[in-house]
Amino acid sequence: MVHSRQKKIPYARQSVSETDIQQVVQILKSDWLTQGPTIERFEQAVSSYCGAKHAAAVSSATAALHLACLAIGLGPGDWLWTSPNSFVASANCGLYCGSNVDFVDIDPTTYNMSVTALHSKLERAKSEGRLPKVVIPVHFSGQSCAMKEIRALSDLYGFHVIEDASHAIGGSYLERKVGCCEYSDMTVFSFHAVKIITTGEGGMVLTNDKQLANKLFVLRTHGITRDHEQMVEPAVGPWDYQQIELGLNYRLTDLQAALGTSQLDRIDEFVTRRHSIAERYYQSLSDLPLVLPYQSKESVSAFHLFVVQLVETAAVTRLELVTKMQDAGIGVNVHYIPVHLQPFYKKLGFKCGDFPEAESYYNHAITLPLFVGLEEEEQQYVIDTLRNIVFNA
Ligand SMILES: *Cc1c(COP(=O)(O)O)cnc(C)c1O
Repeated sequence: MVHSRQKKIPYARQSVSETDIQQVVQILKSDWLTQGPTIERFEQAVSSYCGAKHAAAVSSATAALHLACLAIGLGPGDWLWTSPNSFVASANCGLYCGSNVDFVDIDPTTYNMSVTALHSKLERAKSEGRLPKVVIPVHFSGQSCAMKEIRALSDLYGFHVIEDASHAIGGSYLERKVGCCEYSDMTVFSFHAVKIITTGEGGMVLTNDKQLANKLFVLRTHGITRDHEQMVEPAVGPWDYQQIELGLNYRLTDLQAALGTSQLDRIDEFVTRRHSIAERYYQSLSDLPLVLPYQSKESVSAFHLFVVQLVETAAVTRLELVTKMQDAGIGVNVHYIPVHLQPFYKKLGFKCGDFPEAESYYNHAITLPLFVGLEEEEQQYVIDTLRNIVFNA
């Protein structure tokens, strides 16, 4: 029997402390609500945490992906490749730039972009003369892709690499923090409320390339520069500002940056807590007809998501399991509907069967609640309810 309860358990929830709140209130009382010194403080805190040289704070990861694509000059006639097992933003950024978008199927063990599939797709594309200008690997659920191998392919075939690390701030790969950009041109983070640390809405691009960083700074604020060295005409006076590119207003506010800086102080504590919740799931669900998340020895996941796959031989279907969990007040979710199966992408010519591993994964996947404030008793209820549904079906 599944009993109902008063308080619903979401799949994700932000953790905002009294200190976080005080930091934001201080900004409200200060001279700068936006474009003030707190943005730079936040950027420096994140870039030094990750070990990258430059960081540009922006209004969302979607904006960050768009700007990163613009910074490498992605445009009409170019190709962007990403993972179908992602949020639509990882692909949409290519369409914003007028480029073509295609996908590389996932590895059925890690759920990340398959390096083997990438390699063979590159071989085919090379012979057809349509190699991608950029590949965007997505660190699904917070676990890094095989970046060393992807970087090696990018050297061989000459494409840019932008890491979509929206799930992965706080994680590491080969002993270095995700975001260090050792194997990529740029890395993008999301600070949306469900992610590892939050600014409400917000994002960031990290890079070790000074030229790319300068482009990002200019593009996020209308394409305008006040830096005399970047101006294309002689400065006419101290007030001069020049629009040198077509940019956007993708700025983050100081209010948000204050929250982000305060949240960043807690990131290691957040990731540790996520690991202990994940550990409890591993221990309590090992005898169920579920495939539990694979953890690569090369990386430490930020554990943004805990995704299980319901095996084909289980006595319940995925739909029944999700429905019963939700009826029991547990906000299970599904990450992700493969991007190429979205109606909009089907109109572009993609169809069912194009990326079979991502589709098969999707048909069995369920995301269990995992967030810093998930109480022990709540997690036990999730575990008990799941066991009940699967065994008493
Ligand atoms: C959340 C997310 C995004 C978009 O982030 P926003 O900050 O909401 O724009 C992009 N890619 C992935 C993989 C995400 O999970």
